[in-house]
Order: sequence, then structure tokens, then C-alpha cells
Amino acid sequence: MGTLFVIGTPIGNLEDITLRALRILKEVDVIACEDTRVTKKLLEHYQIQKTLISYHQHSKVEKVDFLVYKLKEGKNIAVVSDAGTPGISDPGGVLVKAVAEADIKIEVIPGPSALTAALSIAGLPVDRFTFLGFLPHKKGRETLIKELVDSKHPTIFYESVHRIEKTLLQLYEFGLNREMVICRELTKIYETVYRGTPKDILANLKDEEIKGEFVVIVSGK
Ligand code: SAM
Repeated sequence: MGTLFVIGTPIGNLEDITLRALRILKEVDVIACEDTRVTKKLLEHYQIQKTLISYHQHSKVEKVDFLVYKLKEGKNIAVVSDAGTPGISDPGGVLVKAVAEADIKIEVIPGPSALTAALSIAGLPVDRFTFLGFLPHKKGRETLIKELVDSKHPTIFYESVHRIEKTLLQLYEFGLNREMVICRELTKIYETVYRGTPKDILANLKDEEIKGEFVVIVSGK
């Protein structure tokens, strides 16, 4: 039997990858990745040539079965996402479950995640927190926002450039007047950390052309 290696990859800066991750990426037989173009870029940067198989959130059960079959044949497989840690708002979980059920060895090669990166520079008490992944666009969105506005503990979620202003506006409308931290483009050229109430941050964002990826942390009540 082979081993499934679940590998954390950079969230922007390509230097943020462990020596072990690079060694395993070189050694495995196959890399299952979300978008082959993204992973190719990372591999080219480190001069690694490897067979890539696409495995993403829309992959069918047959793809998981195929990977399990390859592992049973004795192949070692790495799974990576486009950025950060597989399984954290990214594909990986379904494959890991199937591989665990087949009693095949799974090893983790920990690496970056936008979640932990943002928490570590939040400067808020985050020994206990709620992580929501992405907020739903419609169903359940308002209830969740109300909950986080009332939460005693910090809440953290991922947000896209298309919704960041709308989300901040909603937080403000639901009465959130506490400290928040928004981390934009962590580890990249335009890395920016905004601190303040939703109102403060909205005013800040208004002066800029908004671009990039965001992690939002709302302090506890
Ligand atoms: N699995 C990834 C991880 O461990 O961080 C998260 C994948 S999720 C599909 C992508 C979201 O993570 C983005 O929309 C953004 O909210 C957040 N994100 C990823 N990279 C980021 C970065 N460099 N700076 C800020 N947020 C980032």
C-alpha cells in the first residue's frame, strides 16, 4: 500500500513551503491538485517534474475511487490545494475520509493556512475562536451574521473581493461596533492589515481600489 501525503502549500509567497513538503513532492508518484496550472507554477519554481491529476471540489466519486485504487497498488500520492492547507475551505476532506476508510496510511505535511496566518497577527485574544469558512451568500447568512455579532468569542471567516464591502456593511447594519481585523493578501506584495470597527475599515477601503483575498476576524463581545 502507498501513503497519502496531505501537504500545505504557500498562500501567496512561494518561499513559504517546508523542506519536507518539497522532498515529498519530489518523491511521490503522483500529485493530486485542485488546478494543475497553479500547482505547475509552484513545481516549476522548485524544478520539480511530476505527474499531476486534477482533484477539485467538483471531482466525481470515481476520481476518489481511482486515487484509492492507485494507493492500494502501492503508489504514493500527494494531495495539495491551490493555496494553503487542503481540507480547510478546500478539497481534501472527501479523499482523506475515503483513504482512511480503506485503512491506507495518511501523513500530513503541515504548512501555511490563511486561517492561522491571520489569527497569528490579529492581536486579539484568539485562544478560543469560531471559524466559519466562507459565509453563505443567501440562506442562513443573516442568522450567522447576527450570531457572530453576539458571540463572546472571536469569529473568523474567509471573504472574496466581490463581497468584502457588502459584508462589512452588513456587519455595521447589524450593530457591530467592535474591533475587527481584516487581513488582505497575506504574504503577497499588497499585504495589508486593517484594524478597527466595520465603519472605520469601510472608510479606509473606500479610498482604495479593492483587490485581493481577505480573512476577516471579528473580536468577541
Ligand atoms: N485552504 C486555504 C487555507 O488553508 O488558507 C483556504 C482556501 S479558500 C478556497 C481561499 C480563501 O482563503 C480566500 O478567498 C481568502 O479568503 C483566503 N486566503 C487565501 N489566501 C489568502 C491570502 N494570501 N491572504 C488573505 N486571505 C487569503
